[in-house]
Amino acid sequence: MALRELKVCLLGDTGVGKSSIVWRFVEDSFDPNINPTIGASFMTKTVQYQNELHKFLIWDTAGQERRPRLSSLVLQETFSTLKNWVKELRQHGPPNIVVAIAGNKCDLIDVREVMERDAKDYADSIHAVFVETSAKNAININELFIEISRRIPSTD
Ligand code: GDP
Repeated sequence: MALRELKVCLLGDTGVGKSSIVWRFVEDSFDPNINPTIGASFMTKTVQYQNELHKFLIWDTAGQERRPRLSSLVLQETFSTLKNWVKELRQHGPPNIVVAIAGNKCDLIDVREVMERDAKDYADSIHAVFVETSAKNAININELFIEISRRIPSTD
């Protein structure tokens, strides 16, 4: 069976759930008191999808943010700073990377601040994958990674 290796790097404000997304994907579990050191900075996970093995090499950027926001629940704000993350990525990242936006914590339906349509429109405008996820309730986590893999052209 063919094996694809895919490098994935998570970026975003502190507290948005990056480590939890990785933890859910790799271990299929959720720790509400996740400690920044629990989410290791590098993890791998291999999944089989459509007769291929997809090996994800995942870097979590915990603690490296320039503007830490440890107690912020201001979801709208994390959506606007997302645009800065994308800008920096486009300027300083490698060319031809696939960008995927996870609208995480979609289980928190009572405090929704970002309309799915707005997030989707933004993602479309920068040709990014967009998926609403919940690391807590295991919604769309595998789909997020598989969608990334589907967007990365095969090198063979
Ligand atoms: P990071 O700083 O971006 O790596 O974020 P963490 O993974 O440390 O998560 C920050 C907080 O948000 C933790 O208290 C998590 O339990 C919580 N969290 C992460 N993902 C979700 C989610 O999908 N839903 C809910 N309700 N809380 C989440």
